Amino acid sequence: MIAKVEPLTTARALRGPFDYRVPGTMAGVGVGSMLVVPFGGRRLLGVVVELAERSDVPAERLVEPLEALDRGVPAELVRLGLWVAEEYCSTPARGLALVLPPGNGKVGIRRALVAEITGAGRAALGDDGVRLGERQREALAALAAGPLPAAEVGHAAVRSLEARGLVITENAERRRRPEIEGVGARADGENRLTDAQTAALVRVEQLFDSGGGQLLLHGATGSGKTEVYLRSVAAALERGRSAIVLVPEIALTPQTAGRFEQRFGDEVAILHSRLSAGERHDEWLRLRRGEARVCIGPRSAVFAPVRDLGLIVVDEEHDGSYKQEGDPRYDARRVAERRADQAGAVLLAGTATPRPESRLRLERLTMPERVDGRGLPPVELVDMAGVTGALHSRTRDALLEVRERGEKAIVLLNRRGWSNFLTCRGCGRAWECPSCDVTLVMHRAQGRIACHHCGHSERVPEKCPDCGSLSVARHGAGTERIEAELVQSLHPFPVFRLDADAASGRGAILDVLRRFEQADAGVLLGTQMVAKGHDFPDVTLGVVLDADSTLRFPDFRAEERTFALVAQLAGRSGRGGRGGKVLVQTLGTDARALRFAARHDAEGFLAGELKRRELLGYPPFAQLVRVVCASDRPGPEAAAAAELRDRIATSAPGVRLLGPAPLFRLKGRDRAQLLVKAPAEGPERTAAVRAVRHAVEAVAAGKKHRGVVLSVDVDPQ
Ligand code: ADP
Ligand code: ZN
Ligand code: ZN
Repeated sequence: MIAKVEPLTTARALRGPFDYRVPGTMAGVGVGSMLVVPFGGRRLLGVVVELAERSDVPAERLVEPLEALDRGVPAELVRLGLWVAEEYCSTPARGLALVLPPGNGKVGIRRALVAEITGAGRAALGDDGVRLGERQREALAALAAGPLPAAEVGHAAVRSLEARGLVITENAERRRRPEIEGVGARADGENRLTDAQTAALVRVEQLFDSGGGQLLLHGATGSGKTEVYLRSVAAALERGRSAIVLVPEIALTPQTAGRFEQRFGDEVAILHSRLSAGERHDEWLRLRRGEARVCIGPRSAVFAPVRDLGLIVVDEEHDGSYKQEGDPRYDARRVAERRADQAGAVLLAGTATPRPESRLRLERLTMPERVDGRGLPPVELVDMAGVTGALHSRTRDALLEVRERGEKAIVLLNRRGWSNFLTCRGCGRAWECPSCDVTLVMHRAQGRIACHHCGHSERVPEKCPDCGSLSVARHGAGTERIEAELVQSLHPFPVFRLDADAASGRGAILDVLRRFEQADAGVLLGTQMVAKGHDFPDVTLGVVLDADSTLRFPDFRAEERTFALVAQLAGRSGRGGRGGKVLVQTLGTDARALRFAARHDAEGFLAGELKRRELLGYPPFAQLVRVVCASDRPGPEAAAAAELRDRIATSAPGVRLLGPAPLFRLKGRDRAQLLVKAPAEGPERTAAVRAVRHAVEAVAAGKKHRGVVLSVDVDPQ
């Protein structure tokens, strides 16, 4: 038998798979097996992607694998990994790396000596005639309740008890168990479903029983979407199938994971990058073995090795974190569609603010009302024209009211730091990053100005190095400065700040969320982190500062993002009995995204957005592929981009090419961008992506553009 093996190396030029003869001693080898193979004088880890009867390689040159590892992945996942590699212009090795066991299988099962009491042991415990040391008696008493690791009851006691036949020991698997900490995951018992929830669930169940399908659950914030997910998962389990639940960043949505664990207990496995290697391994293995049938995690969990997949839930499907930023730049939402399709499973993507892509392509279920029958909070656009300072008097008054009434508010400003940028009042100098064409942001607590792109930072200047002036102006306000302002103007009201500076890492984020939840009253202030799916019932005011900041982005998705951000923040307000309202500060009160968000009119916004996209030929009516060429001196990046353009124009004459256009310098690299527009679906799309991949490979392999780094982003966000 011949195994076609894809070696796991990072070299882009390598063209696998390569053939190996499988000896009879490696009978268990199949698609998905992991092998150690000889390769050009080295030993490499590889994955079997196909089995064949014969090979084109002459028999005398065929070699055998050195070793077959006792782990691997299901064939279904091998196909999925290779598909991702192809779709996102990456390499097979990188695609396969996504689906392999954590740590490439280098982490093993943890074993420990476990002691169990025997019948004689139980008898001895109740018989005063049997002489037992104090330690031995304690150990036996503990073991009477059930087996325990020897380390917990004392090795010495266990050994002596074993010698007397009072306990037996075994070297057993010990699961490393991740902790799921929920911020106030409220026990939501089995509620009676609303009519809208029932209708959604009925449709999901129909699809289970008719070979799968793809649904968009478009439900207002608080309409009970999570309850529909929970019931859908239960329905999948009843049918003997498994479910994957994708959530945005786990750290920001601990409540969701907690609710699933409450409902399904040990059936739930959780997979995310902050677990220890051992925990991740054990959770992965529980899924692989079918011991756990519900997997919860962020985008990478779409590759979970569940058995007999029946359902993939994508919670908050509009969330940007579903797109991976490193190679392969996959979009977990598309991978989920693909995987569900292949498995005959149901895809259930839910949100209050659907993407145009999902609205256009998926069957839509709607839940317009909040469960409790309360309306969505009124949203008021506050015109900042002519206002100096970061807060409008209306905003200030509303916050003071919240303080008087002892309630809670959430304030969103999508900008970290104290000031956006500094200029010299003497000569106009602006402080910029030496490696990137951007201004440096001031962080007062650290006394530094920093680049948010490359991490460069320097001391806050005391005077201008060009003209010596001591007068340095600070422009704009970020979360750090607003925090100081709120602390002062709302004193002694507590202010909790949530952004990447104030809380980095899962523990710190959870801590801020928990403190805000447990406080009797206060303000939670931060970047878009505060607009995620939190469910704090006593929030009565939501505020968006500088709502235009996301609109100013030169990106066709700027309006979609702004709409989602404002609508999502509005969804955090008025979830309890006291009602709520939302204020949105803006310089352009007639901005379309804001007007629709103020009316909670996602349908109206989407209709206009889809029309506009169709007219301009943007996704979802076209497929975009972005190629960026970067070079550490100006010139070569533009030459490489020009050659790419020529190659693609020749091999895929049907596509539209925009650029090359220069991009701002980043991390010391000059950059040029080429944008490829292809049809959204069908063979032309596939051909266009392939043409881009081949052109990129040719340019990267050629000597002409040595030193130019190319990166490809299919469906850039
Ligand atoms: P969403 O995910 O749409 O924001 P949730 O599922 O979090 O909404 O529901 C909001 C609140 O309503 C939660 O506290 C949940 O426990 C509760 N809830 C959901 N469905 C029902 C129901 N059918 N009856 C009563 N309460 C419900
Ligand atoms: Zn100056
Ligand atoms: Zn920089």
